[in-house]
Amino acid sequence: MASGKKRKAELEAGRKKRAERKRRAATEPMRSTRPVDSVVVNTAALAAYNSYGAPPFVARGYYVDEPFTCKECDVEQVWTARQQQWWYEVAQGPVYSRAIRCRACRRTMKAPPAVATVPPRRRTSPI
Ligand SMILES: [Zn+2]
Repeated sequence: MASGKKRKAELEAGRKKRAERKRRAATEPMRSTRPVDSVVVNTAALAAYNSYGAPPFVARGYYVDEPFTCKECDVEQVWTARQQQWWYEVAQGPVYSRAIRCRACRRTMKAPPAVATVPPRRRTSPI
């Protein structure tokens, strides 16, 4: 009856393994699932906000890369966790604001227009 004994041992081992996995899943804190490329939110550095409750990244506790489509050129972009951290914590961007334009479009908007908006000076001709 060696095989029966072995089978029993295997069952026992499997049960132990499952129990161990279950126990670990229950005790491990959720924040250990934070993605590697995410950035922890420093809530003290954020611009003041009120009344509407914590924005998703504050509730979550970290920034994650967010895909978005540029409003101007319809190009798919990623607003990276680092860029979000800079925007909210360094530039003090409103916590409910989000990226809507790609870098190229933002640069175009900031750049002076190709055509001068200042009208040429009229020469006053002495009559
Ligand atoms: Zn764009």
